[in-house]
Amino acid sequence: MPIRFYYDTMPEEDVFSYCSRCEAKNIRKLQALPYDVYDKIYQTIAEVAGEHIETEENKKILKLIADRDCTICHGNGWLYKKTIKSDIELANINAAAILRLMGFEGEDLISGEVAISDFRRAFIRALNADLTKEVTETTVQYGKPVEIVTSRESPSQLLMGGLTKKIIEEMLTKLGSFIEEATNNKAKIIYWQ
Ligand SMILES: [Zn+2]
Repeated sequence: MPIRFYYDTMPEEDVFSYCSRCEAKNIRKLQALPYDVYDKIYQTIAEVAGEHIETEENKKILKLIADRDCTICHGNGWLYKKTIKSDIELANINAAAILRLMGFEGEDLISGEVAISDFRRAFIRALNADLTKEVTETTVQYGKPVEIVTSRESPSQLLMGGLTKKIIEEMLTKLGSFIEEATNNKAKIIYWQ
């Protein structure tokens, strides 16, 4: 799960979406369809929910979930929804590393909200921090050898991906542009969760 950073005056955008009301209303009807048809519809719903890809094919498939009298999508099965523009998302562990460098701790590593002036101050603290304390080497962890009667199996291996200084610097650059944009959009509060 990623952690998303956003601000109070974030611009909205129109995104291509499926009609969740039609889906909810027709779920029983959909489940009664042949498996491959049902599967195709749900693949499309998942794709549109995640990537908002607008194609004629997707529109045609989403029409299959439509309720002809739906007042939201007008019987199309799809519509343009107002969604807050998502500007920056970081993987949990990466976000936690950045937040620690900014001086946050505890619950604040998972979610938080602060005035943009404080967030900017914390960001400058991270820029001046020793980034190497969040660098993690790629390591191989060996599990305990498993004893089976008389023979020993070789230990299991787990490769742990590391966080490099370069990745941390790239994330800080991304966060810097985000703060810049938030400032230009007259944001007052920065949220993350
Ligand atoms: Zn609808």
